[in-house]
Amino acid sequence: MTNGTSANSQRGTSMSCAVCGAPGEKSRDYCAICGFTDVSDGKRKWHRTVEAWAYEDLQKTLDEDESLLGVTRGRIAGSWRRKLTLNPQTFLSPFVNVGLTENRLILQQIHQANGRAASDKVTAFPIHQIVSLSVSDADPMETGRSVRLNVILSNGESFRLRSAGRLAEGAKELFEVWESVALRAAASTAPAITCPHCNREMDRPHKFCPFCGTAQGGSE
Ligand SMILES: [Zn+2]
Ligand SMILES: [Zn+2]
Repeated sequence: MTNGTSANSQRGTSMSCAVCGAPGEKSRDYCAICGFTDVSDGKRKWHRTVEAWAYEDLQKTLDEDESLLGVTRGRIAGSWRRKLTLNPQTFLSPFVNVGLTENRLILQQIHQANGRAASDKVTAFPIHQIVSLSVSDADPMETGRSVRLNVILSNGESFRLRSAGRLAEGAKELFEVWESVALRAAASTAPAITCPHCNREMDRPHKFCPFCGTAQGGSE
C-alpha cells in the first residue's frame, strides 16, 4: 500500500466514527464530534476535549449578560435541518453544538472534520418559542449510551439531536435545566394585568393605573 495523497479520501471515509458517523482525521485518535476514542475493558472511552470545544465555541456567541446553563452536541435531524443547509459553507455538516441559556436555545454548526464551530453565527430560539423539549434513549439496546434530544417549536418545526457518550450526559443535563428555565419563562409570561377602567396593560400591579389614574381595587 502506498501512502500517497490519492489514498487520503478513501481512507477518510473508511475512518468515520463508529458511534456518530463523523469522518475522522488521521492525525487524531478520537472523534472530533463525539469524542469516541476506543473500547477498552468492554467499555467505550470518550475524549473530554470535544465538550470543551462545544462550551468554548458557544461561549463566544453569547451576549454579555448571558451564561450557558446546558451544553451538548451531536447530529441533527428533522424538518428544521433544511434551514441550516442554506449556508453553503456548512452544507455537508449535520453536526451542531447546542447551548441553553436563560433566554434561548442556541444551535451552532460545527465542521464535521475538526469539531470546531463553522462560525460565530448561530441560530437561536427564544425559550417561549419552544413548545416541547425532551430526551429519550436513541439506542434501546444500550440504555443511556446515546440519547435523542427532541425539540418542537411553536411554528410547527422540529428537530432531533442525537448525542453519544459524555455528550449524551450533557443532553440529559440540558433537559433537566430546561425544565426549570421553562417554568421561569412561563411564570414571567403570566396573564397580563390590565386596568379594568382603560384596559391598558400594566407592567406590574399598581395602586393607581399609570395611564388613566384609576385606583386599582382588589388589593388587600
Ligand atoms: Zn463520533
Ligand atoms: Zn387605566
